[in-house]
Amino acid sequence: MIPNKKRRYAAGELIFHEGDFGDCAFIVESGRVEIFMEGPVEKVCLNILGIGEIFGEMSVIDGSPRSASAVAVEPCELIIVSREAISERIEGADPIVRLLISMLLNRMRVANQSAMNAKRIMNIDDSEEVDKTGIKSLSKASLSDQRDAVLEKMRLESELKQALADDEFQLHFQPIKNLKHNFITGFEALIRWNSPTRGLVRPDMFMSLAEETSLIVPVGRWVIDKACECLAEMESAVLSSLAPRPLYISINISGRQFSDPQFFNYLTRATKANGVHHENLKLEVTERIFMEGPNAIHAIKKCRSLGFPVMLDDFGTGYSSLSYLAQFFVDSLKIDQSFVRKITTDSRTLAIVKAVLKMAEGLDIPVVAEGIETEEDFDMLRKLNCGYGQGYLFSRPVEFQKAMELLFEDLRVGYAG
Ligand code: C2E
Ligand code: CA
Ligand code: CA
Repeated sequence: MIPNKKRRYAAGELIFHEGDFGDCAFIVESGRVEIFMEGPVEKVCLNILGIGEIFGEMSVIDGSPRSASAVAVEPCELIIVSREAISERIEGADPIVRLLISMLLNRMRVANQSAMNAKRIMNIDDSEEVDKTGIKSLSKASLSDQRDAVLEKMRLESELKQALADDEFQLHFQPIKNLKHNFITGFEALIRWNSPTRGLVRPDMFMSLAEETSLIVPVGRWVIDKACECLAEMESAVLSSLAPRPLYISINISGRQFSDPQFFNYLTRATKANGVHHENLKLEVTERIFMEGPNAIHAIKKCRSLGFPVMLDDFGTGYSSLSYLAQFFVDSLKIDQSFVRKITTDSRTLAIVKAVLKMAEGLDIPVVAEGIETEEDFDMLRKLNCGYGQGYLFSRPVEFQKAMELLFEDLRVGYAG
């Protein structure tokens, strides 16, 4: 980074001119500086700045030309703040913060322009053609499409907060089947947002935004509570059936939830409050979590030590999965649907799935194949001795009541068979 320097200016010396490229900002160390615009007849003073004030930063931040000129009113000493020193910080900032800054700057430029026009109207020359509004968007180009995307994100974020307050989220459940014996062994809980304006929204549309912000923590807690509530009903349905057997709900946990210091307390409190067994609440984490370093691994170990089984989701799509698998235990693997989709049509994919199944067998962990859509996928996976599967072939994710119907039906068939 170029160090900030000082420079002296003599009285009346021009510091920069309107329209110049903004390569630095200035802080007044001593003396006074006038910011002005050239009027048609004479210059219009916008401001007089004194010790400790900054100027010239606007065009450095948003890359627009200088919108006014600056001149030393008296001998001045100015600290020169380099473009790098400013832009490094701005570029590192959140995109929403960057957008807000550029919108504010735009507003300030418009205000300057209006002030200038107002002074022109008051001071001078009636014959002059004046744009009385003075409203001219000076950096519209730089605020382009990106702005719409960021604004939509901000809108969505505030709607999500409201959705949480208004209880608009739902959990849907997709059965996970034992492929060999064809019965339901558990359900994956998948969040939906029942928005009054957007309709039923799938998580791809909002969970990544929730993960970017701290919203993931309250949304994740909502999922934990709801899943435990539903699991309690399912556990008692299974227990009161004629052929009781273990049944679980798996919930998706994103890495950021582990940075909530209350995560484990919350999880154990929720299971206790609903009287459900830890071993029946599985936590699905994706391989991406390993990118977050040792804390994530520590968190996974902690989940297991508290008795919550951990399932590695989307297996095969992330990084370093094999080295991590050697370093710590997970309780099951989920083969990503991108593999399952091609298992009957692509021999290379089939070879990879076979290798994953072989590896899991060696590690003694069960495998769930996700995204089973056709009888052919199902037959192939059964032939390969893949233990478990889920997919549209069996059922799409459904509302809780429908999931209970599927479970009751399955328990009856299981008993009869
Ligand atoms: P995922 O964990 O990989 O979930 C599986 C996704 O595949 C689900 O999409 C499910 O509806 C879909 N799916 C299941 N079977 C089939 C099939 O046979 N064919 C096809 N084409 N798709 C199938 P969904 O519900 O839209 O969820 C998308 C992602 O959103 C999930 O991927 C998960 O990463 C995330 N997500 C969902 N619920 C939660 C949640 O409560 N918490 C967190 N952190 N993430 C969640
Ligand atoms: Ca999942
Ligand atoms: Ca998955």
